[in-house]
Amino acid sequence: MKASAGTLFVVATPIGHLGDLTPRAAETLAAVDLVLCEDTRHTARLLNHLGLQKATWSLHAHNEQERVASVLERLAGGESIALVSDAGTPCLSDPGARLVDAVQSADMTVRTLPGPFAAAAALAGSGLCPVPFAFWGFVAKKSSERREQLRLRLQAGPEGPMTHAFYVPGRDLIDFAEDVEAVAPRCRLVLARELTKIHETWLRGTPAEVRGLVQEEHLRGEAVALCEITAQSAPGEKQEPADARELVARAKAAGRDRKEALRDIGQKTGLARRVLYGLWLGSEREPEPESEP
Ligand code: SAM
Repeated sequence: MKASAGTLFVVATPIGHLGDLTPRAAETLAAVDLVLCEDTRHTARLLNHLGLQKATWSLHAHNEQERVASVLERLAGGESIALVSDAGTPCLSDPGARLVDAVQSADMTVRTLPGPFAAAAALAGSGLCPVPFAFWGFVAKKSSERREQLRLRLQAGPEGPMTHAFYVPGRDLIDFAEDVEAVAPRCRLVLARELTKIHETWLRGTPAEVRGLVQEEHLRGEAVALCEITAQSAPGEKQEPADARELVARAKAAGRDRKEALRDIGQKTGLARRVLYGLWLGSEREPEPESEP
């Protein structure tokens, strides 16, 4: 194949299983003059697998802007160039979008070669409502910030459920499930990890159930978290006071510290501290003596 002169090819690459590289992607990588890589050593392994020796340039978060002018120059000189990232589709939680915008804006040719995208692979295999969905990329590192993000983002769709996809490092899976439990305890949560690899794993259920399913070995590797939100499970939808009463009663029976227990129950149910305090006191009060007739 002869790659078209002066064209930028945006090429999706596998997220684990090398068999997922499309024939068109392999042909294009073989034909281009230059491959722009997020990490040249990482992409060298893919190129070796294909038996290719290619000129490569790095293009990552820290040098993308500087690269733009020289890439435009090479395209203007008639070269064909492929853009890849370490895994999956470039530009999606990966570098490349600024370059693609510059090439499009310069009225040069861009061709997109679809292929693996971890969020789409997770959605398709999850059994959750796939459309509409929202893709949010990586979550914040700190739990308090993640909870704020989740509170703002986890909305139902305008006409029914909506699923939200997040990229979560394996080591944060338990914390993330706890954050979702605190913000939207009644949603359906799926953790999809190591997709297309030997240890592909699906953990499904309510946030509390999923948190209970996470094992030590799940804390390594890569994962997509999906939250399906309905009008009933969206953050801010108040739980039935009966649920909170039950949680308060259980916390008391377990001898938990009142302040801590009410803080946790408040996060789970969205009910105000004063309401929960009332429930705590209410369940402590002796039943009123029946008045004499
Ligand atoms: N551009 C890529 C794509 O198309 O999905 C994503 C790159 S982003 C830097 C890497 C994140 O994608 C990982 O931290 C993880 O959240 C997700 N990811 C990538 N490969 C995955 C896999 N095989 N299984 C589960 N999640 C994966």
